[in-house]
Amino acid sequence: MTVALDKSVEDFITSPHQLFIDGQWVDAASGRTFATPDPATGQTLAHVAEADAEDVDRAVRAARRAFEHGPWSRMTASERGRIIWRIGDLILEHAEELAQLESLDNGKPLSVARVADVPLAADLFHYMAGWATKIEGNTIALSVPGSTFHAYTLREPVGVVAQIIPWNFPLLMAAWKLGPALATGNVVILKPAEQTPLSALRLAELIAEAGVPDGVVNVLPGYGETAGAALAAHDGVDKVAFTGSTEVGRLIVHAAAGNLKKVTLELGGKSPNVVFDDADPALAVRGAANAIFFNHGQCCIAGSRLFVHRSRFDEVVEGVAEIARGIRLGPGLDADTQMGPLVSDEQLRRVTGYLDSGRQEGARTVTGGDRHGDQGYFVQPTVITDVRPEMRLVREEIFGPVVVASPFSDLDEIAAQANDTVYGLGAGIWTRDISKAHALAGRIRAGTVWINCYNVFDAALPFGGYKQSGWGREMGHQVLDAYTEVKSVCTQLHI
Ligand code: NAD
Repeated sequence: MTVALDKSVEDFITSPHQLFIDGQWVDAASGRTFATPDPATGQTLAHVAEADAEDVDRAVRAARRAFEHGPWSRMTASERGRIIWRIGDLILEHAEELAQLESLDNGKPLSVARVADVPLAADLFHYMAGWATKIEGNTIALSVPGSTFHAYTLREPVGVVAQIIPWNFPLLMAAWKLGPALATGNVVILKPAEQTPLSALRLAELIAEAGVPDGVVNVLPGYGETAGAALAAHDGVDKVAFTGSTEVGRLIVHAAAGNLKKVTLELGGKSPNVVFDDADPALAVRGAANAIFFNHGQCCIAGSRLFVHRSRFDEVVEGVAEIARGIRLGPGLDADTQMGPLVSDEQLRRVTGYLDSGRQEGARTVTGGDRHGDQGYFVQPTVITDVRPEMRLVREEIFGPVVVASPFSDLDEIAAQANDTVYGLGAGIWTRDISKAHALAGRIRAGTVWINCYNVFDAALPFGGYKQSGWGREMGHQVLDAYTEVKSVCTQLHI
């Protein structure tokens, strides 16, 4: 049964969707718009103003004004913290509306948006609100002979920050980016993904309602090659924070080189999920399925390489396949849906392309392996075995509900296999032996290691990648470093 849309969602969908610059809703300078489709049907959901370089320039100038002259930079940290807290409150007050919007635009089950995307986004703002008053420097003892100095450090905002986010958790990624930037006193131009611009636009309304002054947060929907590239290259931008593919991450680094703006990157992954022979069988099987099928596998940290101890391989793989066969696919807004469509036609073609390549290279499909139905962008939850390390299925990020499973024999072998990837975002370990768990956790080159759990996210837990999975960390207090400059102030005391 399809959930009836709240009137507020219907009203929002049918209202004009403009750019948010300097606290005003405006059309794109070019007058152009683009369509955002409903991934369950492929039908157009809404038309959205399409920002390009001229709008980027306008937004950067507004942000700079807000940073240098606006009330934001003169507010006390406590006032800023209260406003950020209010954003979290407003997200909770509009939780059902935001969950429906996210489900419509992205395709994810409404039940997932309700329990994950929306509350986690609110929690991020609440957590970061507390940091606003706790950005501190140090006093430092100098060792210069014969003189006395009073030296200290200040932590100051970086300035105008461009934030470019993907479509897999549109609202939550906006929160991960905006929360720490605002807590540290920066101003922002946020570019949501062209596939999922709607929740960021609704969030902009809530941000204004919370009392964020004009120009502090600007939201520019548009395409990566135009609006995104213009932001990454703009000389008026002091920092760019990007989440998305490793390929685009490289383009961002090149574009940022012009004015050497600061860069943080949260990129792709091919995370290993390791099941030892002594793991709790039911827990490990459920955990391995959740690791890959949560959010349809459209997670940068998806446990897409499953490694199972040789003695338990068939049993665990069959258990995960059994769960896969039972997953109910359907539109995100259908109350029975456990897995929605992929976000776009492009992703559907990408993921089914990988499934074809696996077949051609001789991999064995245990379950799934094809598109589901002929309407919308659905893919069957898929489990694949008989893979070799050099296959594309094993090496490349698929970003769909597709797991490849391989056996292993001992700790040394699995440590090498787990690290045999250019990525280093996450890993899972399933065992009852804490020594083995922590020994392997120490050897895996990845930013997050989950033991007997997977997909646990918390505003206090730093998140980010080793190797080609990124630069820097999001969340926790570590993210604050990425949004502040350190200034050393040194005074000679003439006494
Ligand atoms: P993408 O990296 O192309 O897009 C992510 C964001 O970057 C979007 O806002 C996009 O508009 C923007 N962008 C694209 N090209 C840009 C450019 N040249 N300059 C500046 N910004 C640009 O990701 P995608 O095309 O949406 O998905 C492709 C693949 O990326 C997926 O299959 C998946 O493997 C990976 N991906 C990873 C994540 C993640 O969280 N790590 C998220 C989305 C996609």
